[in-house]
Amino acid sequence: MANLLWLQGGACSGNTMSFLNAEEPSACDLVTDFGINVLWHPSLGVELGDNLQKMLRDCVSGAIPLDIFVFEGSVVNAPSGTGEWNRFAGRPMKDWVKELCNAAKFVVAIGDCATYGGIPAMAPNPSQSEGLQFLKRAHGGFLGKSWMSKSGLPVINVPGCPAHPDWITQIVVAVATGRAGDISLDEFQRPKTFFQSFVQTGCTRNMHFAYKVSATAFGQRKGCLFYDLGCRGPMTHAPCNRILWNRQSSKTRAGMPCMGCTEPEFPFFDLMPGTVFKTQTVMGVPKELPAGVDKRGYIALTGAAKNAAPRWAEEDMFVV
Ligand code: SF4
Ligand code: SF4
Repeated sequence: MANLLWLQGGACSGNTMSFLNAEEPSACDLVTDFGINVLWHPSLGVELGDNLQKMLRDCVSGAIPLDIFVFEGSVVNAPSGTGEWNRFAGRPMKDWVKELCNAAKFVVAIGDCATYGGIPAMAPNPSQSEGLQFLKRAHGGFLGKSWMSKSGLPVINVPGCPAHPDWITQIVVAVATGRAGDISLDEFQRPKTFFQSFVQTGCTRNMHFAYKVSATAFGQRKGCLFYDLGCRGPMTHAPCNRILWNRQSSKTRAGMPCMGCTEPEFPFFDLMPGTVFKTQTVMGVPKELPAGVDKRGYIALTGAAKNAAPRWAEEDMFVV
């Protein structure tokens, strides 16, 4: 039996919605098949008021062993570092978060806000939001760079806006069933099993990428979304075309560019007008190239690809 507590900071509840839609395994499977005891969750918890405060205090003191603490949403520090803008159970949420993180065996941050600060931490960041161990790309965040949970692991980051339902439940199950040691983390503390490959891995538009045939509008059934529509699939680490959404599809399969939501900089360019869904170029060359490709290589490759493109690549083709 593993006790799990889930709290929300500066959040839209998107990751909770995602979690409740999980299928492999589902939120119910966590309880019935994997022995997870959900102490409290913002959408599922039954305790209120004094009862909830007592439960939280018991988790902090160790009277209730806290195996897994899941945090969704940013840590809100405003105004002036007090955290009073986000009060919960009688005190600033950030004070609960600090104490619960220190009491927990494992801490899992779900979604961009909890991992990197996300949309709330966009400049000028009036809520003084930050992630548990990162503020965007900067290592440190609310808990500090060298913080470790009682298990000796840093915060396990499962980013995404929201994170895919099965990324959430599969990591929680791995931790709860004693397989945390098998989880290898990357430089942003993301489990490599999900975040080593790119969104482009498994995209059905890869042939169009290779022949530099571009989609020019959302939902088009042919073409790659990189050249005109700002797709970040070649430089975003996530398995969205390996572990499909709703077991059916992905953004790029449906003709919608990847916005890079699992990377610390998301949302890119602070959503300035003209920067979203549009490939930023200089002299016709994208400012950001696929990971590992240099400008000279890109020009050589795309020049040859364009000349080699077969006629079928320009036809309306069902790529979902
Ligand atoms: S649509 Fe995006 S992910 Fe798919 S091949 Fe093109 S750039 Fe890659
Ligand atoms: S396709 Fe891109 S923007 Fe969409 S969920 Fe995956 S990583 Fe995020």
